[in-house]
Amino acid sequence: MPYRAWFQCINAECKATYPLNSVIYRCRACNALLEVEHDVKSLSRRDGKAWMKLFEDRYKTTEWPYGSGVWGKKEWVLPEISDENIVSLYEGGTNLFWAERLGKILGLSDLWIKLCGNTHSGSFKDLGMTVLVSQVKQMISEGVPIKAVACASTGDTSAALAVYCAAAGIQSIVLLPKGKISIAQLVQPIANGALVLSLDTDFDGCMRVVQEITHDESIYLANSMNSLRVEGQKTVGIEIVQQFDWEAPDVIVIPGGNLGNVSALGKGLLMLRQLGLISKLPRIVVAQAQRANPLYRSYLTGFASYEPMQAEKTLASAIQIGNPVSIEKAVRILKQFQGIVEQASEEELADAAALGDKTGMFNCPHTGVALAALIKLLKGGKIDPSERVVVVSTAHGLKFTDFKVHYHKKELDFNCRHANTPIELPPRVEAVKEALEQALQRSTRPDA
Ligand SMILES: *Cc1c(COP(=O)(O)O)cnc(C)c1O
Ligand SMILES: [Zn+2]
Repeated sequence: MPYRAWFQCINAECKATYPLNSVIYRCRACNALLEVEHDVKSLSRRDGKAWMKLFEDRYKTTEWPYGSGVWGKKEWVLPEISDENIVSLYEGGTNLFWAERLGKILGLSDLWIKLCGNTHSGSFKDLGMTVLVSQVKQMISEGVPIKAVACASTGDTSAALAVYCAAAGIQSIVLLPKGKISIAQLVQPIANGALVLSLDTDFDGCMRVVQEITHDESIYLANSMNSLRVEGQKTVGIEIVQQFDWEAPDVIVIPGGNLGNVSALGKGLLMLRQLGLISKLPRIVVAQAQRANPLYRSYLTGFASYEPMQAEKTLASAIQIGNPVSIEKAVRILKQFQGIVEQASEEELADAAALGDKTGMFNCPHTGVALAALIKLLKGGKIDPSERVVVVSTAHGLKFTDFKVHYHKKELDFNCRHANTPIELPPRVEAVKEALEQALQRSTRPDA
């Protein structure tokens, strides 16, 4: 295999490099984050057209592991790993659908939703975790003494880590903020045999602890500070472009918390351009919950200043993060993609998620944040109605049934304008007929 990849420090004045099989998350020289760097020279020996053909030939076939949306792009992800160490659950290849009805309501004719939550553990975190756990398996096979893999999580990272580790037969350890994740998310690592540690703090608190614990090199760190995750997640941008027959959309909207995913999205798109598969880049919009909006605040200063903050409780629990680890990477990406950051209040995110649901989606609250940001940017004229817009939906709505139940029972601190309350009736035909007559007179238009 002529292709090579390695860790490289993101600090332009340092650029120290480390082999991918070293247990390392930050630069030993300057403490900056690392990223996986590829030997672009050897990758560009194959031209853009040939890469497209290769990726298309593999897409969703059962030729293990290349039918996976991530491993179908193995040369761009982890070129040197041996196939027998790949831990794949057929991640990626998620549907991208035309949200015709929601688009009409919003006045947008070309709105598409990339459903990253329709996947093994129910969120896009699978894309990165397959890469990280595979690399761990490779390292163990080379004799690196790793006993377990650990992460702090707002719910979805731990679910993905636990299930990939279970598939690989490697022990996982998850640190969760007690009472701050959904039941569905909590039960996932429990079912998959993780060592589940519930800490009386928030995500940022769990993150501090896991960083200490993983100073012991036999416990490998699986948070997105570990740039192996970004390598898998970057395939989402590549896949969106592939699904549009190798044409980039005009705008991609993505919710952001720790900001690993937006960094990954941008990295994949840049690689597409660098290797000649696309010439134009989309604009990227990061959507943040107003209660956890450090990137939005920085955006308002033109990224001149940045302050971590104490995130407040938000329905968008997976992005309740005040001190995002990938802030520098994200800002760097946004500067190259004419980036916009928008925020959504609790009411805005919940209403947007519910409106989408009424048009045939089933949104998690984070997708609600992205939809709300889109609505605001359309109103503000920052996105044009003629543009092709893709919203990255990050998790499956079934992980967040509490959120939906509270909304439709109107148990939240605001109006819940799209609430759909079940009508309770005696089991009599007449009563049912009467109720139907009344209900069907009312408009059923979702925007009514
Ligand atoms: C992790 C996660 C996010 C945020 O991704 P970051 O990389 O932390 O910005 C958004 N939505 C869901 C459902 C997630 O699980
Ligand atoms: Zn460095």
